[in-house]
Amino acid sequence: MLPDRCSIMENGKQCVNPPEFVVSVVVEKDEYMVGVTCNKHKQIVSGKIQSLQNEDKIPRGKISFLPLKAVGTDCIHGDPDDFVHLDINNPKN
Ligand SMILES: [Zn+2]
Repeated sequence: MLPDRCSIMENGKQCVNPPEFVVSVVVEKDEYMVGVTCNKHKQIVSGKIQSLQNEDKIPRGKISFLPLKAVGTDCIHGDPDDFVHLDINNPKN
């Protein structure tokens, strides 16, 4: 099952918003689910995934955001246990 919270951890705190998008990486015919995000954190997640791809931590492919309601879970590979950790920390000013 999908988590019921956005995957983002901000400054050590789990985002409390319900997930609105499933974040996945599409590589040729495969789609790898990497997390879920609320609308507010969509851009942050996108940037975070790109940096993880640059570090070869997740497959390099097209990042896609699927509205949660549209997701058919049987066509997506992934398990919440495999989701990447999306800890973010605000830059110190
Ligand atoms: Zn969030």
